[in-house]
Amino acid sequence: MKLNIHDTFNKQLPADPNKNNTIRQVTESCFSYVSPQKTSKPVLLHTSSEMLCELGLSSEEATSKTFLNVVTGNEILPNTNPYAMCYGGHQFGNWAGQLGDGRAINLCEVKHQGKNWALQLKGAGLTPYSRTADGLAVLRSSIREYLCSEAMFYLGVPTTRALSIALTGDEVLRDVLYNGNPAYEKGAIVCRTAASFIRFGSFQIFAARQDKKNLKTLVDYTIKNHYSHLGTPSKETYSAFFNEVCERSLAMVIHWQRVGFVHGVMNTDNMSILGLTIDYGPYGWLEGYDHGWTPNTTDSGQKRYRYGTQPEIVHWNLYQLANALYPLIETAAPLEAILNSFGEQLADKYIAMMKSKLGLIQENEGDLILIRDLENVLLRTETDMTIFYRNLAAFDKNNPREGLKIIENAFYNLDTISEEIKQQWNVWFTGYAERLQKETHSNSERKQKMNAVNPKYVLRNYMAQMAIDEADKGNYNLIDELYQLLKRPYSEQPENEKWFAKRPEWARHKVGCSMLSCSS
Ligand code: AMP
Ligand code: MG
Repeated sequence: MKLNIHDTFNKQLPADPNKNNTIRQVTESCFSYVSPQKTSKPVLLHTSSEMLCELGLSSEEATSKTFLNVVTGNEILPNTNPYAMCYGGHQFGNWAGQLGDGRAINLCEVKHQGKNWALQLKGAGLTPYSRTADGLAVLRSSIREYLCSEAMFYLGVPTTRALSIALTGDEVLRDVLYNGNPAYEKGAIVCRTAASFIRFGSFQIFAARQDKKNLKTLVDYTIKNHYSHLGTPSKETYSAFFNEVCERSLAMVIHWQRVGFVHGVMNTDNMSILGLTIDYGPYGWLEGYDHGWTPNTTDSGQKRYRYGTQPEIVHWNLYQLANALYPLIETAAPLEAILNSFGEQLADKYIAMMKSKLGLIQENEGDLILIRDLENVLLRTETDMTIFYRNLAAFDKNNPREGLKIIENAFYNLDTISEEIKQQWNVWFTGYAERLQKETHSNSERKQKMNAVNPKYVLRNYMAQMAIDEADKGNYNLIDELYQLLKRPYSEQPENEKWFAKRPEWARHKVGCSMLSCSS
């Protein structure tokens, strides 16, 4: 298997001198060398042909025994030294101390066509950071991460990616809902990829330990390798670095709001320093448009990570990163200014995103009200977000009375919509039609623009669960079907119309569809 190995993380950063897998606190180090656990009967279920290309691998190489062995941790590529990263983080708003790669093992970094890719196995066994857990991953959560990370990429959302998913042949014990009913499940490993897996928590751990030396080493490394356009490290560069992390994180969360993605566990250890969506756990997709929805049952009381608060949570997480970088900048003013400007930019970017979903291009004072009124009426009845926006593209600006008919299919229960709500919708459509008269584009030009930002196909919660249920029975075809479907989320795919459908009733309260936990 020919890969252009170009390791930087474990070559340029301090390593833990202790080289065993014992669970421990690791100080003054960015990572620990570890060996993936051998798996008993690995079977490759799927590979991303596009990721293979990105790495410069042929499809023949992907069917080789070596490939299977490497992506399941049974073989280490020559001249590589796998490692687990040390990081900390705020979990659900509280400082949790050291966390680290408890079940992720970085194999190596690869350079191909000017791009760098770190290859990481998720579920490859114990590391010093495994705490009380087993270092393993189950098939259900691996399918969810594999399909969703690629789907997000094709939606145009910054994300880590996935190269492959494989069964390990080993069984893993999990208590899916943490209710005292553990059961054995099939073990699996996803090989995921990103330019870097460094998280906010990677910096926080050094700041928390008042280890300024290693904090600086990691920040300088990150700038040199991932933000080199900012120039040589200095206090000004650190501020500029923080500013760009803010901008990227904001862009990422605005995309989430656009496509209806709810991450579910936005702890600071799950925030990528590159502004990528990372760590697909109990995430979900909005079905009914609902600011208060979270897929994560572990968070069902507080709902800290619900859809509507995601941008604010990113802001909060950035405060924690600012605190971690402060020792290097030694003055709060620039960090505060950047954090304040995040708030303003958030409002502007959110409106711009919503305008794009509505096909509005021109500047117009009343747009904020139009958007707010739409959200108010959307929140009144269970209305499928994806179907609503996709159908809205067919709205005729000269015929607002037809509006309700066009979007009718997005309502989960048409019979329960009162005359008063219908009236509210008609008022909104009249306002929308008037607003569209101020645009120069035709109905069909607007439709094209709207369809480029409002996906037709997303990985609805029940779709992922169907692929999981099939896979549990040994049938893996649906993984490929969904993978192919989600490669073209904005395209009309007449042969796949069945996936442009509201969540079926059986999935409303089903575990895995609307109820998920961190037990992956
Ligand atoms: P998450 O919220 O899934 O991103 O995980 C939070 C922390 O728990 C990270 O440090 C993970 O590495 C660790 N973790 C999660 N699941 C496992 C597992 N099965 N074995 C070891 N560590 C885990
Ligand atoms: Mg994590």
